Amino acid sequence: MKRFSSFTMDGIGAAVRTVISRVKDATAKRSNELPSTVPRLVAVSKLKPSECIIEAYQHGQRHFGENYVQELIEKSNDPKLLELKDIKWHFIGHLQSNKCNNLAGVPNLFIVETVDSVKLANTLNSSWGKKNKPDPLNVMVQVNTSQEENKSGCSRDQCIELVKHIISSCPHLKFSGLMTIGEFNHDWSQGENPDFVCVLSLGFYKMLVQCRKVVCESLGLNVEDVELSMGMSNDFEEAILMGSTNVRVGSTIFGARQAK
Ligand SMILES: *Cc1c(COP(=O)(O)O)cnc(C)c1O
Repeated sequence: MKRFSSFTMDGIGAAVRTVISRVKDATAKRSNELPSTVPRLVAVSKLKPSECIIEAYQHGQRHFGENYVQELIEKSNDPKLLELKDIKWHFIGHLQSNKCNNLAGVPNLFIVETVDSVKLANTLNSSWGKKNKPDPLNVMVQVNTSQEENKSGCSRDQCIELVKHIISSCPHLKFSGLMTIGEFNHDWSQGENPDFVCVLSLGFYKMLVQCRKVVCESLGLNVEDVELSMGMSNDFEEAILMGSTNVRVGSTIFGARQAK
């Protein structure tokens, strides 16, 4: 295990730089209708040790994504990581209401990208309120663009109501955009090739762009004020071409993950 992590560590700095330049190149190729702002790169560090995060931080990476509340609590309170003063944590996993208080206690929590119900928004709102922080907590609404029953995220139809609820009834939350996962839980055993799966994901990203349009029209919001979190290792460049403002890249930076 030790050999494995030191092996991957060597490559992390170079991988961060490569991904950043690929993000910039993709941004430069965007159509004129899309903003020229370079999307935020979130390095997804789930199941990777603190040393990997420190390594990426030392190469300039500041935003990190984690999927599991308990793991995020442990890492964010690790004395070595507490020293990294401007680290910014993104929670990108499935969130249960009973974990909101714990999550709200995470030092340097920047955003929760996976709010998908009114109940969860209300709970997170009160958890953050109890912390008496000067600023509201950034949140994104996770949309289940594939409409599959077993996936998390609200449906496209529920999305408008949920965004409206957060804006009007959750003073401790700041709505900052929409998030979706592409064909993430894809069953590779079916023998399809990765390019095909990528094409599927792009369909979901297109739906998220459409979803933002509808939300903005219905609620009178500016499209520029509503972020789109989409794109992972396999497809972040395509997601950027479609307007992503926040890409979540794990294995391309940190290497393959061991199963949890
Ligand atoms: C793990 C994960 C990622 C990163 O996936 P990679 O394919 O390793 O880049 C992105 N988003 C979410 C929600 C994840 O769970």
